[in-house]
Amino acid sequence: KSYIVIGAGILGASTAYHLAKNGAAVTIIDRKHPGQATEAAAGIVCPWLTKRRNSEWYHLVTEGARYYPTLVGSLQEDGEAETGYKKVGAINIFGEGKESMLQRKFELALERREDTPEMGSITKLSREETHALFPLLADEYSALHIGGGARVNGRAMRDALIQAAEKHGAVRVHGQAQLTHEEDEQVGVIVNGKEVVADDVLVTGGAWAKQLLEPLGLSFQVTYQKAQIIHLQTNEFQTDDWPVVMPPFGQYFLTFGNGQIVVGATAEDGVNDTRVTAGGVYEVLNKAFKVAPGFSDCEYVETKVGFRPFTPDSLPVIGKVPGYANLYTANGLGASGLTSGPFVGKELAALVMDDVTTLHLSNYDVCKALR
Ligand code: FAD
Repeated sequence: KSYIVIGAGILGASTAYHLAKNGAAVTIIDRKHPGQATEAAAGIVCPWLTKRRNSEWYHLVTEGARYYPTLVGSLQEDGEAETGYKKVGAINIFGEGKESMLQRKFELALERREDTPEMGSITKLSREETHALFPLLADEYSALHIGGGARVNGRAMRDALIQAAEKHGAVRVHGQAQLTHEEDEQVGVIVNGKEVVADDVLVTGGAWAKQLLEPLGLSFQVTYQKAQIIHLQTNEFQTDDWPVVMPPFGQYFLTFGNGQIVVGATAEDGVNDTRVTAGGVYEVLNKAFKVAPGFSDCEYVETKVGFRPFTPDSLPVIGKVPGYANLYTANGLGASGLTSGPFVGKELAALVMDDVTTLHLSNYDVCKALR
């Protein structure tokens, strides 16, 4: 069978990879919209400490985190060593006087590990130990350390997936895809003025999927949240093994090799421009400096902008689009799509190839995002 995948962020790239690896003929179409979420994303893979209590969503992110090592191994077999994934651990930090909160989180983590042993070691760290792990933090924080926490460079992972898909015969086309509709409920695809033909069409277009599906008379409910995220550089430390840092408010820091530091991020609902704003940069750095004063002496490199795609109730949808014989979609990975995306792509590929899916796809019914 043959497939067209429209949208090559982490989700489409993973879908295409799993299809191609299983012998299908795949065409990947991507427009490289400025603001692709995968390109801008931070890269935290540590879903187990979340306060969110939606079990379907939790299932996706924990399966996503669990799947990463298998995927990285599979990509390595395909000659893709640069996946940007590394298990560096994660710390949830707590200020003075918050010892009881830290203790509660510790107990919750132990409880959750019973179902998700890949969380690895769970340790309480003293102020000194915390500071030693991430020396740019103020020295007043103690922490909960999760050994199985990881980071991933979204762009590197996306590229590794696409390149490996190409090795298995996938064809990549740069351009803006449009959908056409014929009378027999078959959806067709046009890109760069030419028709592309395949048995099934898979839409993984993130924040842009609404426009793509409109010509079919579908009102697809995907909203977006603009995020501005800042990259800094230190030449003073070796940062390759530093853990991901999750402060007790909605911000985070992580590092990559060569002194690269990522500080995130704003959450601007419905804002659809890719401007780096003074207010955005101020908000992110102002909050960050309070927790990590060491950042103020780092070099400012750039601010990236991306759009987190959300479907209703912030729950992803995955499956067949009703009313069309050959149209499938997945979307709404929100703020945790680097974590869940590779796994969701694998499941979407399994669905269209009539293989066994491990998810109960009725929990992620596409109808929930259609009006
Ligand atoms: P995208 O990556 O946005 O890809 C969609 C693609 O579809 C785009 O390339 C676009 O050009 C293409 N497209 C759309 N329409 C068309 C068309 N008509 N023709 C051709 N191409 C089309 N998640 C985590 O797990 N951990 C994190 O630490 C994390 N940090 C984040 C930080 C930021 C700043 C942001 C923005 C997101 C973060 N996320 C994180 C979330 C994660 O990045 C997203 O959920 C995920 O990348 C969404 O992937 P996607 O493939 O669905 O969409």
